[in-house]
Amino acid sequence: MRVVLFGPPGVGKGTQAQLLQKRCGLRHVSTGELIRAEVRMGTHAGIEAKPYLDGGKLVPSQLVREMAEHAISELNYDDFILDGYPRTVEQAEWLDEFLALLGFKLDAVISIKVPTDEIVERLSRRRINALTGETYHLDFKPPPARLDPALIVQRSDDRPDAIRQRLLVYAHQTDPVEEYYAVRPIYYKISGVGEVDEVHERIRAVLKKTVVPQDRSA
Ligand code: AMP
Repeated sequence: MRVVLFGPPGVGKGTQAQLLQKRCGLRHVSTGELIRAEVRMGTHAGIEAKPYLDGGKLVPSQLVREMAEHAISELNYDDFILDGYPRTVEQAEWLDEFLALLGFKLDAVISIKVPTDEIVERLSRRRINALTGETYHLDFKPPPARLDPALIVQRSDDRPDAIRQRLLVYAHQTDPVEEYYAVRPIYYKISGVGEVDEVHERIRAVLKKTVVPQDRSA
């Protein structure tokens, strides 16, 4: 099954993708996390991406495309959840073309909706595990007590100025991606408000409705 989790920063895509990975065996591909890993490792790509990341701007598409396509091919093109990709119409077209080359297509694009005020509140209370990238929320999904507090950090782009910039970028560049998918039968809209498990169940209900796995021999 090939799934895109879609929505602005802070709607819970990462949390939900991690849960789907744990409970349903789908593999989580987060381009944000791939980029942060490159930054942590100090690679050429990471050095190039860092100023965009820190400023809440989109990293040059070609760079992200390579990371996303590499990750998908490593997973044999199946049973993945994309989180944070595609973010532009150009990336959405690339993804379609990339999968179509092997006779594949997406099974579901699930758009998660949360009111903007709640998004800003969620992002400012978000923390991540500096080693694994796992996300927490200080009130609703607190980091485990056994975790070294020094490893619990705030993302550099979860500061108020960067949050505002990311939501602005989203409205300009990523909203049109929703229109790109909304006309297709694989597009589903769900509410991201409520407990993590409630939202998870909404996603599971959508996944149950999606078509049976495609013929991999195509
Ligand atoms: P995320 O973890 O999905 O919120 O992404 C964090 C940051 O990584 C974004 O604000 C962008 O700077 C960068 N990023 C992640 N995915 C993409 C993408 N598909 N295209 C461009 N930049 C991206």
